Amino acid sequence: MTGEATAVEFDLATAKQEILDYCLRSMEYGLNFNTQGNISVRVPGVEDRFLITPTDLEYDRMTADDIVLVNGNSEVVEGRLGPSSEVTVHMAVYKRRPDVNAIVHSEPIFSNVWGVVGTPILGTLVNMVIYTKGDVPIMPFELSNNSAFGEHMCDVMGDLNAVVWANHGLLTVGPNLRDAFKTSVAVESAAKVQAYARALTDTPIVLEYGKLGITSAL
Ligand SMILES: [Zn+2]
Repeated sequence: MTGEATAVEFDLATAKQEILDYCLRSMEYGLNFNTQGNISVRVPGVEDRFLITPTDLEYDRMTADDIVLVNGNSEVVEGRLGPSSEVTVHMAVYKRRPDVNAIVHSEPIFSNVWGVVGTPILGTLVNMVIYTKGDVPIMPFELSNNSAFGEHMCDVMGDLNAVVWANHGLLTVGPNLRDAFKTSVAVESAAKVQAYARALTDTPIVLEYGKLGITSAL
């Protein structure tokens, strides 16, 4: 899926399968367990339509047909199941960030470690900094199943592509699902490196996005 895809080119069935594939991969990569996390994409070329994973269904029991089509008010347009309980969080991001076409929420261990420590995930790995566009901030704990959470989270994330929800998990965004997912993997890797590095030194060497001279947009 690309930002240039039209409504005709965008195949809903294929997009649902792609979401399911990334859900399964998120378990394989240790980003999620059980029913944790959720994924959504913006339907390109059609105003106000989004695909999102259903609420409370294990990924290994999910089929592509279980993915829910919703509008920006988090209302189900098509689907036999209810959308993720965090659907309003996703919709807040799509309203605030026209550059975002895909969102991945997961609950990986090392990102959560820094969430409870209250320390941002720093640029220990260039792979992460390129995707996140900076240190990953920590949002103080709030219950996530309401629209106020989404607004507060967008304030914390700003123009970055990742944010940690303290005592809960990680959310990453991107221009497409592949990049949003790669960002989640990259953040968790950097979080792990930061944990090991901080066991050895209080001052690990980290990268600053603004000093890398990256000009091409991801
Ligand atoms: Zn969650």
